[in-house]
Amino acid sequence: MTGATHWAGHTFRHLIAGELVAGTHVYPVINPATGTNLADAPGADHIMLDRAVAAAQAALPGWQAQGFDARRDALLTLKAAIEARAEDLATLLTAEQGKPLVQARDEITRGAEAIAKMTALKIEPELLDVSGDKRTELVYRPLGVIGAITLWNVPFLLAIPKLVSALYCGNAIVLKPSPLTPLTTLLLGEIAAEIFPPGIVNIIAGEADFGAWMSTHPGIAKINFTGSVATGQKIMASAAPTLKRLTLELGGNDAAIVLADADIDAFAPRLINAAFKNSGQICQAIKRLYVEDAIYEPMVAALTKATEALKIGAGTEPGVDIGPIQNQMQFDRLKALQDETRALPEVRITTGGHALNRAGYFIAPTIVADIAEGTRLVDEEQFGPILPVIRCASAEDALMRANDSPFGLGGSVWTADIARGTALAQRMETGVAWVNHHLGLAVDFPFGGVKTSGIGRAKSILGLKAHMEAQVVQVPEMPG
Ligand code: NAD
Repeated sequence: MTGATHWAGHTFRHLIAGELVAGTHVYPVINPATGTNLADAPGADHIMLDRAVAAAQAALPGWQAQGFDARRDALLTLKAAIEARAEDLATLLTAEQGKPLVQARDEITRGAEAIAKMTALKIEPELLDVSGDKRTELVYRPLGVIGAITLWNVPFLLAIPKLVSALYCGNAIVLKPSPLTPLTTLLLGEIAAEIFPPGIVNIIAGEADFGAWMSTHPGIAKINFTGSVATGQKIMASAAPTLKRLTLELGGNDAAIVLADADIDAFAPRLINAAFKNSGQICQAIKRLYVEDAIYEPMVAALTKATEALKIGAGTEPGVDIGPIQNQMQFDRLKALQDETRALPEVRITTGGHALNRAGYFIAPTIVADIAEGTRLVDEEQFGPILPVIRCASAEDALMRANDSPFGLGGSVWTADIARGTALAQRMETGVAWVNHHLGLAVDFPFGGVKTSGIGRAKSILGLKAHMEAQVVQVPEMPG
């Protein structure tokens, strides 16, 4: 059972101005575990975007007047409704995205948890000064209509913090999921339709052009985007004429550095999990592994063993660790990368290196040893289960090479010496740095990257304030 049967009879619709509406056309959503049609998604045109933005603007004054407490209550009602539909959401997520059902359930749970944690944060006016006859405060005002654009790797967990940041701070949202995985987000729209005033939440499964329309729309104040660097750059350019505020969560090429004193057997399975979870399709997955020369060979052997212990299969199969690649284009890209890597002189593929001979988009998780910079696998983001293991002369050598990248999302150091590891981790040019860990930051911690990995921080108080505009208010001090 792949999930296809359960959803075949369901009509997925947009949520626009409080109503669930059919698309202008439909397009197929493919189940990556089979390569066959899972369900039809509704397409959208520019008129639908205009309707959603107009409804959002009309609803804003009432929503803003409710204040933080009432908006938190509405969001906690959404949390309870998500929990009541958790199994439906999780099975649909596995069916369209491919990940193991256990991980899909975890994504839904973490999404619900993010609502509670983010709405527990408080945004209060800050008193700047009382002097002479003046009182000066810094207050935060909502921005207006937020355009949120997500992609196909963790569609639910990308959508929820964007929705919460927008709504809790008194904004409305137009949320566009990836056309590759629109269904879970559309089901979220069905749930939200019962809870929020019409116009506050709009969920539209438009295709790529729709994202471009959003980033130029004069009625949208901010774009909160997760996706590739290339699309982020396009959004920045097209948002310039209307000076939209931007939060951009973009690509990464995370390095993990393994020092010579590391516990090889304990760390290898954890490194592999942080590299190959969700078939490596995580922005902050380990994508380059630097290992000190002294333990290079035993580490490669342990990584190979840990990789070969993984069970690959459809996300609905019991005990599966790794599901398919999410889509045909990414599958073809990864196969080409495997072929190109295999053709490199002196490179050793110790396990994997090929696609699986079965229906769907399955790649054997792959360890590549004796590879270095100057190859596409090391210099670019693979976004798939192919890990380059790079020999380095020392910790300093590894750190210099890890930082020599246009990306800067996450990074980690693996060692028995926590103090030394901490000092090295703090020198990583990244938005997050770990010691003896990588991936799985709490849902309410600030998230984002440096350099081309993005602009701004999502979630946390920083993420909330990025959905508001600071205003200095200076008034005469009131007597008494
Ligand atoms: P993409 O950039 O092609 O698409 C992402 C979304 O943008 C989709 O909804 C798509 O329809 C939309 N889109 C496409 N063209 C657009 C345009 N011109 N204007 C506006 N929207 C447009 O995504 P991809 O390349 O498939 O995503 C993979 C990348 O996402 C990887 O680099 C990965 O690291 C990154 N990512 C980053 C984070 C993070 O939080 N930093 C999280 C997950 C993934």
